[in-house]
Amino acid sequence: MTSPSTELMARARAVLDRIDALASISDDTDALTRLFLSPAHIKANRTLLSWMEQAGLDGFADPVGNVICELPGTTNSRPPLMLGSHIDTVRDAGKYDGTLGVLVALNCLEHLKARGVPPSVPIRLVAFGDEEGVRFGSTILGSRAVAGLTTADDLKRADPDGVTVYDALIEASFEPEDFAAASMTDSPPAAYVELHNEQGPVLDTAGESLACVSAIVGSRRMLVEINGLSGHAGTVPMSERQDALAAAAECICLIEDACRRPDMVGTVGFLETHPNAGNVIAGRVRFSLDIRSHDDALLKSVCDGIEEKIAEICARRDVDVTFETTGGAHATRCDDRLIQMIEKSIPGNADQVRRLPSGAGHDGIAMSNICPIGMIFVRCAKGISHHPDEAVDVHDIAAAIGAMDRFIELYEREQVLPSPEGS
Ligand SMILES: [Zn+2]
Repeated sequence: MTSPSTELMARARAVLDRIDALASISDDTDALTRLFLSPAHIKANRTLLSWMEQAGLDGFADPVGNVICELPGTTNSRPPLMLGSHIDTVRDAGKYDGTLGVLVALNCLEHLKARGVPPSVPIRLVAFGDEEGVRFGSTILGSRAVAGLTTADDLKRADPDGVTVYDALIEASFEPEDFAAASMTDSPPAAYVELHNEQGPVLDTAGESLACVSAIVGSRRMLVEINGLSGHAGTVPMSERQDALAAAAECICLIEDACRRPDMVGTVGFLETHPNAGNVIAGRVRFSLDIRSHDDALLKSVCDGIEEKIAEICARRDVDVTFETTGGAHATRCDDRLIQMIEKSIPGNADQVRRLPSGAGHDGIAMSNICPIGMIFVRCAKGISHHPDEAVDVHDIAAAIGAMDRFIELYEREQVLPSPEGS
């Protein structure tokens, strides 16, 4: 890949300055934490609105706290192209997650505005207020509202202090009764395209700056409970044990083996053992199971196979097992036409642009209900994310701005709307 131009580098540095400015707006004094509808979130919204105003773009916050602006096009009869990401964070977060995509898109809009020639189609920018779902335990509330998927029940969700979404909206001077007005279902954008740091190590390992996202993976989450029999660690012979923890250990190794294949990841990240004492055979164990793939059929067959084999292991070891589904989602495919445009937008040979599934969830999952979606990934150092060490190189930001400029240019030239089948 050729190195970015001096102009792109200058724009990347301007984006970095703003990333730093937003990183200083936090609910914590010694870490970056900006939760949905918190004072820091509202302050970040105001900062973003002031930058939009400086650029001559009319911005506003919608009824659920998403910040939106639009650059009119010459053919405003065509629905807008929507770009964006989110500006809420996890606790003790990195400063690029979400913010990078919002600020690169804002930079591209400013650049177009300054050029003085309006784009052929309107371009809308959104900074979603709740992607991470840390405060109210429900992810992508912001984009779900835009996609018309929020219900009155969502407003009743409470944070650990008992403050509901409804209360938090009022406290931040929004009108919770108007939440349905955040929906764009009546006049949806023609497409939603998000740029985001990869949050994984693939691009860093490959030495590449950018990739095109093929799909956002689907997932299956379960809680597995194994019941055996507790007993004295010294007196019960090995042949007579119903050791729930030993059974769980065999199951966990099986899960790792079953998921060790392309297009699949599986994690057991939680384990609870009872009575959890060094001199007592474990009588009961519960563990989580999080399996993800961008291929729904593969996900289903691997999960079914795992359940079957866990049942076999537990029968052989004379312990009982139950499965509880705790969550899951279908994979969200990116639109084929948008994928092609994104691949042409990334410097170098379009055939050689890496296509990557996103293992993390994104606002595109909600947006895919109302329009085709596309995503661009930017390399982050060692794949670290959701951590203060998260880092994106300024050269990669410059490359990302160049790719987004080029994508907008290609999109403007397209006379036919992307087909909705890929959504
Ligand atoms: Zn994110």
